[in-house]
Formats: sequence, C-alpha cells, structure tokens
Amino acid sequence: MEKPIENFWSLRLADVKDALEANNFEVHIAENVDAAKKIVREVFQRIGAKSISWGGSMTYAQTGLYREFKDYPGIEVIDTYDKELPPEEKFERRRRALLVDLFITGTNAITETGKLVNLDMQGNRVAGITFGPRNVIILAGRNKVVPDIEDAMMRVKNYVAPANAMRLNMKTPCVKTSICEECRSPDRICNTWTITEKSLPKARIKIVLINENLGL
Ligand code: SF4
Repeated sequence: MEKPIENFWSLRLADVKDALEANNFEVHIAENVDAAKKIVREVFQRIGAKSISWGGSMTYAQTGLYREFKDYPGIEVIDTYDKELPPEEKFERRRRALLVDLFITGTNAITETGKLVNLDMQGNRVAGITFGPRNVIILAGRNKVVPDIEDAMMRVKNYVAPANAMRLNMKTPCVKTSICEECRSPDRICNTWTITEKSLPKARIKIVLINENLGL
C-alpha cells in the first residue's frame, strides 16, 4: 500500500468526524494544508463574515492563513498576534475579538469520542471557542487526536504545556525539566481548562481535521 500513514489517518479521521458530528460540530476533513485553507476560505465566504480574529494557534500560523487574513480588505480585522502591540492594546484586542463574526484558532486535543480539550494561559482562546464569536473555526492536525478526555489531559500537561512554555520563553520550571511541576510562577501558562462536549448552536464550531501533523 502506498502512503500507509495517510491511509491510516484517513480512516481514523473519518471516525473522529462522525463522533464530532454526533456532538453537533460541523466537521471537514482536509488531506493537507492547502485543502484546509480552501475549506476555511469557503466557510469565510459562506457565512459572510464582516469581522475576523483569532486565538493563539501554531497550526493557524503554520497554514499561512494568518498572513492571508491579517490585512484582509473590506472587513474588520482584529489582529491579536501583532508582537509590536503594547500589552494593554493586546489585552483590549483580545476582549474585542470575542465579538467577531469569525474566530479562528486551534485545539490542544480532540478525543475519539468527539470532544475538544484545551488549557489556556489568559483564557481568550477558550473564551472565544466557548461563547461570543458567531462562528468558530478550529484547525487541527491529526496529531491532536487522542482516545479520551484522560489521554487529552495527559497530552496537554505532559507535552503541550511544557513545549509551549519553551516556545514562549517562559520562566517556568517545565522549561528546564520538560516536566510539569504545577508551578506558581507568574509565567504559568496553565490557568483555564475547557472541555467542549458539543457545539451550541449546532455547527457554530466548525472543525477542520487535517491529515498532517501540525502545531504542538
Ligand atoms: S503548570 Fe507551570 S510547570 Fe506545569 S506545565 Fe504549566 S507552566 Fe509548566
């Protein structure tokens, strides 16, 4: 068989799609990043978004969609990634981002039972997923799929959070050891857990499952 890994994940992602759809998420499968970008553009046009923003997501940045949307003409763009922003402005933009028509981000894990599991530092990403933006697109590489909630939380605490702390140059113990020590550091990035069991309203949250490894 050619491409056995892609074939394996095509089958596995189809099952995950069924589980997510049973939980009222709108789900798309993309065989690669280019296909995922096409789906996002189609959703963006279909819903007629007049405003757009995003929550922290390596996957979103890796697809190149951030570069595409950050200067998009004719709509309100709230860029929360701009590194030049003073902290107060960044904070205000993150607040305003919760009222956009389309909010794009990633997820720390997706369970085979069709649930999203996330852990945030400030909480703006999980806030947007939970309530506020009229539509949410979650971009998720196949590496985010885990069997259940327990595995998802293990994945986040044992891998995603320490690796993210390293990526963000935080002064936390996990940056030195790779192991979570449930720190009390001011730089602690693990502050709010969410488990999104279903999309309400139905299809408000649109998930693009991508048959590639992306993000952490
Ligand atoms: S709680 Fe602290 S030590 Fe543990 S992963 Fe989060 S930032 Fe790192």
